Amino acid sequence: MIALSFVFALNSCEKEEGTAISEESGNFEATITDLNLSKTQIAVLKDNLVIPENSTVQQLEGTFLGRNINGLLIDDNFVASELFDQWLNADSNTEASKGSIMKNRVSFPANGKRTLKIGIVSQGFQSLNAVQLESAIESISRYNSLNMAKIQYTYRLGSASQLMQDQSLNQVIFNDTNNNFVGNPDGRAQFPVNGNPGFLLGLNNRTRNYTKKQNTVLIQHEMGHTLGLVHSDYLTRRSCDFNGTDVNPNLVEGIPNTINSGNHLNSIMRACGFFRYINFRGEDIVGLRNAYNGNF
Ligand SMILES: [Zn+2]
Repeated sequence: MIALSFVFALNSCEKEEGTAISEESGNFEATITDLNLSKTQIAVLKDNLVIPENSTVQQLEGTFLGRNINGLLIDDNFVASELFDQWLNADSNTEASKGSIMKNRVSFPANGKRTLKIGIVSQGFQSLNAVQLESAIESISRYNSLNMAKIQYTYRLGSASQLMQDQSLNQVIFNDTNNNFVGNPDGRAQFPVNGNPGFLLGLNNRTRNYTKKQNTVLIQHEMGHTLGLVHSDYLTRRSCDFNGTDVNPNLVEGIPNTINSGNHLNSIMRACGFFRYINFRGEDIVGLRNAYNGNF
């Protein structure tokens, strides 16, 4: 493959020299560089509940399955450059500029359900192994079992090349074989952009050795991000022993009948330690149903 150069749309980026890691294999081409965030950029990320632990983060530029995947790797989130630009360019005095993740949900029709189609890489480069595959299918089944009024899932299996041809996909789940998308966390997922679910859901290559129980709840957690859910303890990160944040809790759109303290651990959406749970918790179920029941 010939290396392509991409125009990267982040505002006011400073790139460090000499830190690029290039990966070119199959249907995945990516370059990862360190990016020094400005104070403004950090503030904008925090306003949108993405909390970098320091001012240098990784920036990924490339293509996967024919889609551009430019963005920032922060914690277990992938912030697409398009979304980050929207946050940066928003008027800080408008409600929309808050862009809080709960407010950034997947759009759905007034009547009936929207069906989201997930491609699962099941053979060839970046394919899930048998346990990961069973886990992905189980996770999708669990979301459908919630009987959300406005969102349901279907899926198809295929090689990366086959999935690349399918323009009807809303999301793809892949094993990050060379670990250049996921990095340190067990998984990484993209938040919604323009009313569509986050397209990329990557699993760390080490999760090939995890149990079905672990992989299933991990994929449930990451799918939650692709629907716009933030970490349930976003305000404190106390599940990670990470010092609290200064995020204004009003930036999160509370879901009726759920706890929205920003300090909530009884959820598979907690930032760390969700493997103690084997399925959605009560709050997750109520929250997801209410967020996608069309009345909220
Ligand atoms: Zn997460």
